Amino acid sequence: MDHFPIFLSTKGQRIVLSGGGDAALAKLRLLMKSEAKISVYAPAPAPELVQWADADRLTLHTRALQLGDVLCAKLFYAADEDDVEDARTATIARAEGALVNIVDNLHDSAFITPAIVDRDPVTIAIGTEGAAPVLARAIKADLEERLPTTLGTLARIGKGFRKMADALPFGRPRRDFWRDYYFNAGPRAVADGEAAVGAALDGLLSDHVTRAARPGHVAFVGGGPGDPELLTLKARRALDEADVVIYDRLISPEILELARREAQMIDVGKEGFGPSTPQETINDLLVEHAQSGAQVVRLKSGDATVFGRLDEEIDAVDAHNIGWHIVPGITSASAAVAAIGQSLTKRGRNASVRFLTGHDMKGFADHDWANLARPGEVAAIYMGKKSARFIQGRLIMHGADRTTPVTLIENASRPEQRILETTLDRLPVDLTDAEMTGPALTFYGLAPRAAALAATEILQEEMA
Ligand code: SAH
Repeated sequence: MDHFPIFLSTKGQRIVLSGGGDAALAKLRLLMKSEAKISVYAPAPAPELVQWADADRLTLHTRALQLGDVLCAKLFYAADEDDVEDARTATIARAEGALVNIVDNLHDSAFITPAIVDRDPVTIAIGTEGAAPVLARAIKADLEERLPTTLGTLARIGKGFRKMADALPFGRPRRDFWRDYYFNAGPRAVADGEAAVGAALDGLLSDHVTRAARPGHVAFVGGGPGDPELLTLKARRALDEADVVIYDRLISPEILELARREAQMIDVGKEGFGPSTPQETINDLLVEHAQSGAQVVRLKSGDATVFGRLDEEIDAVDAHNIGWHIVPGITSASAAVAAIGQSLTKRGRNASVRFLTGHDMKGFADHDWANLARPGEVAAIYMGKKSARFIQGRLIMHGADRTTPVTLIENASRPEQRILETTLDRLPVDLTDAEMTGPALTFYGLAPRAAALAATEILQEEMA
């Protein structure tokens, strides 16, 4: 970094500029935002310059800059857009002790003026050391769009409120309060004027003081298979009250929408065999946030107690004496079996049902295949797409009938739900053809009830 960014105090300081054309006007528009005393030297000033001088926004001298004109000035701008004249004025300014900027001449300048996003008192300066002005302008445009124009007002009012916020414990509770103010309560109130912002701040503070008094807690919440209407009332309430939501990849955006607007949302999505947030990191996050007093919702897909590594997280929380509870959810086997209009158990067919995982931490998971291979058995296989061929092989090896029905329900309960009806024999081939990319539950030993399929999409017919 050659050019080191600083914010220079300009109150009562002198800034001198030589020039009266477009380059001068552009610089002056920026400089007039400061509190400096600005002197301009221009033998032929543009009309705007004369207006600004008349309005006392700067002092205009309608002559060329001379020796002694830059004395006591902090900054000098050579903006005559003429190499010879700029060199002459810059030499005077340097001799008289000012830092010099020559417009469009990085090499001979002692400082550069950044692109500025102005939300006074919040000011963002963007510089590329002259390397990429286009980039600086693009970043500026992007920020201009993203930062509400009322940000400055909010910062000014917030500054006056800082002492009051000391009522909150230092650290996270105070940080959360300010985040809430700047990104939620503040922007909402500011449309109704500054008095409304003050009132919002008061309300917000008492809200946060009560919240800070509560000890941190973790709710392990089952988010269900995807349809927000399949959330329990308790899950909705927990989301409503959460300070922090730590959620998995399979949680649908519609469900995340239901979280308190102020809640901090943390994505710890894990993908089958793909990249994942290490379990230890998730455990640490739970402990860290709960210890800082947050009401944490650990949102897991389906039911948190089914193939969710829940016990490891409970152990981590328990080890730090943090309170927790479990909110049950609808597991995907329940949603999937509903989609095919069947029962998980049926008198005379199966008196038990197994929940299996296709793979575990060591790879493809092993099970009591011989038992499962008997007629009438039913299993709900989670994470079973990649292991389909392995499971097929094991079952056939143990004598399972090749014509045993197998049904895959992809994206159960979601708008993109698809059903694939096949048999043990055809499972790997049909699965490959179906190109399923969403989460899918495999039922071994269950075929869709005809009436249920009539009402939904039939993948096999569509593919034929
Ligand atoms: N705790 C979750 C399961 C987590 S393991 C539950 O109770 O449902 C992840 C596996 O769940 C996926 O590989 C898939 O087999 C299944 N799954 C999750 N959501 C699903 C959905 N909407 N439709 C079908 N299967 C789903």
